[in-house]
Amino acid sequence: WSAETIAVVTGGNRGIGFEISRQLAAHGLTVILTSRDSNVGVEAAKVLQEGGLNVAFHQLDVLDPLSIKHFADWLHQNYGGLDILVNNAGINFNVGTDNSVENARMVVATNYFGTKSMIEAMIPLMKPSTVGARIVNVSSRLGRLNGRRNRVGDLTLRQQLSDVDSLSEELIDHAVSTFVQQVEEGTWESGGWPQTFTDYSVSKLAVNAFTRLMARVLSDRPEGKKIYINCYCPGWVKTAMTGYAGNIPAEEGADTGVWLALLPDQAITGKFFAERREVSF
Ligand code: NDP
Repeated sequence: WSAETIAVVTGGNRGIGFEISRQLAAHGLTVILTSRDSNVGVEAAKVLQEGGLNVAFHQLDVLDPLSIKHFADWLHQNYGGLDILVNNAGINFNVGTDNSVENARMVVATNYFGTKSMIEAMIPLMKPSTVGARIVNVSSRLGRLNGRRNRVGDLTLRQQLSDVDSLSEELIDHAVSTFVQQVEEGTWESGGWPQTFTDYSVSKLAVNAFTRLMARVLSDRPEGKKIYINCYCPGWVKTAMTGYAGNIPAEEGADTGVWLALLPDQAITGKFFAERREVSF
């Protein structure tokens, strides 16, 4: 890895995204720290630049197609593309089992569709490389299909989402859209969705499924143009998202993401990790 290696981090202005940016830059990479709010993003990048790190800033709102397009054009013109994409931007209203329509829409749109939009926009810009380009999706154990407490009750859907060969974009989009529709209709509680942090869990479950699907789709790329994609759970982290109530600092929450982004073992793709260990979906 060198300053020629370009890593893009979404939601890099604070929390885990800021730490991932800092740690990747500390490994000698050039990091493009992005943030939906330019003022806070510029300030965050400045902190890292003042620490001697190679960090640039660009505005990026993963919910805004025009913002993604402007960013992609700028990245192409100024850096010729990227080697590593970390999809970290995410929201969670900490609402437990109470799914308001607005929250459900926003959480699914940001965490799942925002991540998906970024992957689709960045893949054409990923640079050829002998070690393979990398995509890391910051997800959550709450999105595990077979978690002990928080599982999907609909057996058919669980089965379809569990089987990587039956996964499709249509299936995942349909599952999250059905959930949002049921929240709108007030019928989601009998829909067999995860019991806690339901909208957030559904959004991360979709991120995990999309990670596996993309690993399969990308697997036939020729040598030199490989892209490896994995997701991970950072743990319960002291950030704004948890009201700083987590049990580990952001530095630690960033660790597995940075490890996956820089992993020398090229064969690893389509997997879910926590604390640098593989976890089942
Ligand atoms: P923070 O709330 O501190 O940071 C979230 C980041 O995402 C912020 O930079 C925020 O920007 C950004 N963001 C939100 N919406 C958008 C958007 N539309 N476009 C671009 N950026 C956006 O939370 P964390 O650092 O804790 O979370 C980072 C990731 O880790 C998330 O994906 C989260 O789901 C995941 N995670 C966190 C856990 C934890 O315990 N903290 C546990 C499991 C997973 P802004 O500052 O403008 O709001």
